[in-house]
Order: sequence, then C-alpha cells, then structure tokens
Amino acid sequence: MKVLLVKDAGYCFGVRDAVNLAYDTAEKHGDVYMLGHIVHNENVVNDLDKAGAKVVESLEDVPEGKPILFRAHGTAVNTWGEAETKDMNIVDATCPLVLEIHEEVKKLEEEGRKIIIVGDHGHDEVVGIASQVKDPIIVATPEEAQALRKIKCAGVVSQSTQTIENVQEIINILMTKVFDLRLVNTICFPTKRNQTQIKELARQCDIMLVIGSFTSANSKRLTALAKERNKNSYQVTCAEEIEPAWLEGAETVGVSAGASTPDSIIDKVIEKIKAIGEIPEEIVYG
Ligand code: SF4
Repeated sequence: MKVLLVKDAGYCFGVRDAVNLAYDTAEKHGDVYMLGHIVHNENVVNDLDKAGAKVVESLEDVPEGKPILFRAHGTAVNTWGEAETKDMNIVDATCPLVLEIHEEVKKLEEEGRKIIIVGDHGHDEVVGIASQVKDPIIVATPEEAQALRKIKCAGVVSQSTQTIENVQEIINILMTKVFDLRLVNTICFPTKRNQTQIKELARQCDIMLVIGSFTSANSKRLTALAKERNKNSYQVTCAEEIEPAWLEGAETVGVSAGASTPDSIIDKVIEKIKAIGEIPEEIVYG
C-alpha cells in the first residue's frame, strides 16, 4: 500500500497565523477573547481554551482591559467600530487575502455596481464582506442565482473558500441576467491549490480520506469534490474514525485535510494508516 499526503493539507497560512497570534496574545496577557471559534475544529478550540483563548458571544462579554482578537476570516464593520469606540485592545488576525476581498468589493461599489457575493448565508467571512458595502445580494447556489431579477450593472466577489465550480455555475446564470457584469475572482490561492490537488488525487487513488471537522464548510467542500471523483472517499475528524475495512485491498490511499485541521491530527491519521498498511513512510504529493 502507498499513502499519498497532499503537501499543503491542513492549515492555510491565514488560519496558522491567527492561531499562533491567539496563543502568543494569551501568553502575554493571561487571556484573550474571540467572537466565535477561530477555526472550525473542536480540538483546536479546546486546546486554545486551555491556553486562555476564550470564545465570547459579544464585545460586552470581554473583561475590561483584556484583548479582543478579530479572527482570520474578517469582522463586520460595525463590530470594528464598536470595539474602537470602546477603546478596546484589538488584536487583528484578519487574513490579508480577506482584506483584499474587502477592498475589491468596495471598488466594485464605487464603480456604481450592485454587489453580488457568492458565499454561504450567515458565514462570518460573508457577513464581514457584506458589511463593507450597501445592501449586497448574497447568492449561495445556482438556484438562488436563477431566482434573481435582471440587473443593469453588477459586480461579483466570492467567499475565499468557495469552489471554482459553484462560482462558475452562478456566473453562467448571472450572464443571462446582468447586462454589465464584472467578476473579481476572490477564491484564495490556498483554497484553489487544495481543490486542484484533491481533484487530481481522488482520481488516482483507490481510497481518498479528507480530515476535517463536520462544522468546517471548507472540509465538507473538499470531501464533496473527492466524492464526485471517487466514491471511496471518506471524511474523518480524527484517526480513531478510520475503519480498517475501508483500506482493505487498497493499493493507494490519498489524504488531504481542510484549512482548519491542525498538523497534530493529520500526523495521527497518517500514523494509523501506516500501521494498518504496515508501511514505513508516506509519500508527499504536490
Ligand atoms: S482560507 Fe484563504 S482567505 Fe481564508 S484564512 Fe485561509 S488563506 Fe486566508
């Protein structure tokens, strides 16, 4: 048996930097507060909590003088404003690629375009992008795009972790509805790279495993892309969930992981597969 591990599986640089900043800030100040989970991964959240990085519901819940960390996928304009008005100690972990989307969407609005954001309703990153402009339309699926009325002039950006296929399908529909349409392709490069690699690997391998929490939209999208190409694709959150029967008779096992999966969990999954297959080393793919 061969195990092929996608080279860049797991944390993207934006999430890695934000998690490190949370640990560093907690160490420096005793604790640090965040409006929601820094990554969609229960293990990481529990470890951070033990280190002093706590999740709160609102700015009111942050004890006086304690730092508030704004997470990698961005923060709504009114929340930033409120924190600044209260003179809170803001630690900014916003990913530079998310900030780029904020800039691009504002430029499209300045051009006089109606803003359309391709993304998941209610997702924090989408809420942050939407807050940069006035009354944007959020479109999650081709069906939602189909339901839109005709628009004279529109500008489109997407959530950084969307699949290229979903954005393409939605754009195809918008071409029939919008006279003057401009798309800025804001799917981030770590997302594009992970999606390309998983599509290639799922076709080549007998079994494809995606490691990631079921609360992570990004991990679920990777699993869906793998399943479309290889029916023997499974999503697991940790090594214990791997069933040895899945690997029976498999000659090649591909492994990837969502952007919120820490290295420690990936390592344990690889160790388990190597133990089942009785092989010494994994092969790095990509
Ligand atoms: S998924 Fe992309 S945009 Fe989001 S934090 Fe990671 S690198 Fe940044």
